[in-house]
Amino acid sequence: MRLFSCSYCKNTLYFENDRCLVCGTEIGFDTRRMAMVSLVKESPDLYHNYEAPGEKLRYCGNRAVISCNWLLRADSHEEFCISCRLNKTIPNLTVAGNAERWQQLEAAKKRLIYSLLMLKLPFRQTGHLHDADLRFEFLSDEFSEHPVLTGHLNGLITINIQEADEIYRHITQLKMGEKYRTVLGHFRHESGHFYWNRLVRDGGFVDPFRVLFGNEEAGYSEALQRYYEKGAPPGWEERYISEYASAHPWEDWAETWANYLHILDAMETAWSFGIRLKPADAMRAGLAADMAEDPYGTDDFQRILANWVPISIALNNLSRSMGHKDFYAFYISPKVAEKLSFIHNLCRMWSSQFV
Ligand SMILES: [Zn+2]
Ligand SMILES: [Zn+2]
Ligand SMILES: [Zn+2]
Repeated sequence: MRLFSCSYCKNTLYFENDRCLVCGTEIGFDTRRMAMVSLVKESPDLYHNYEAPGEKLRYCGNRAVISCNWLLRADSHEEFCISCRLNKTIPNLTVAGNAERWQQLEAAKKRLIYSLLMLKLPFRQTGHLHDADLRFEFLSDEFSEHPVLTGHLNGLITINIQEADEIYRHITQLKMGEKYRTVLGHFRHESGHFYWNRLVRDGGFVDPFRVLFGNEEAGYSEALQRYYEKGAPPGWEERYISEYASAHPWEDWAETWANYLHILDAMETAWSFGIRLKPADAMRAGLAADMAEDPYGTDDFQRILANWVPISIALNNLSRSMGHKDFYAFYISPKVAEKLSFIHNLCRMWSSQFV
């Protein structure tokens, strides 16, 4: 994520802000500029960009409910922003706490959508039988016949809104023996299944996919059942980013995809802040890092990784300094690096159509 600041007072803004916490100016995210912009109010529902008075804007219709801070052009016929429009089902807002849960889910989803927009990836299907556009539904067990499983089916990403509850998430994480479980991680993982259809299957890249990830035609439900009974095979770390990735080539892809987006977002932040590493001990020159270019514009993923590895090691140490767990708990083996590069190349190929 980029470093954004208030146009009036230069205070640093978080992506989630709808107001500058120092000067009080209303702020929003403008997807045309892919930037947070400071606003000047013209009337109750009409604003313009402080830096560009000709750009008339208004907030997403969900601002009042979940503080959505994304903007639309004032003359747009849409009620909601580009991200909120992708919601097929929202939580039942008559239940206490659901608006807060939704707000948390939507905030994480916005980070996914930001990356997808930066990568110029499509939200539309290609017309493949049974496929639909990328959509989201936020469901809860109490209004459903069966327990709601977080997952993806034909473009529709389902999230159990309990995932917004930190205690539930932590208990589930412990039960499942996972190193990492976040709402953002769910969104990134599930979007991977949609983009497998779009970029790999419909893009004609199934053969090179199979060389790296294996044959996805192997029975999916049996593979998952086997994984839940027996766990990951010994030595999985050399081939997979996580234990769950070993369950099936589709899960391997989705886990690797999620990590690709984690790394890209974190490295855009590192680049934007100008983070450099130069260990005081000259013998540790291998831990030096200097991310001098925007990772979204970098051709070779190995250059991103060469900086990411030392930066993540430094962040893990900083995290432990505060008594927290590791910031990034994954090991990137050479094989996993190849898979990440494959994903990066597919995304680069896709976005190059629009240059
Ligand atoms: Zn300000
Ligand atoms: Zn919105
Ligand atoms: Zn999955």
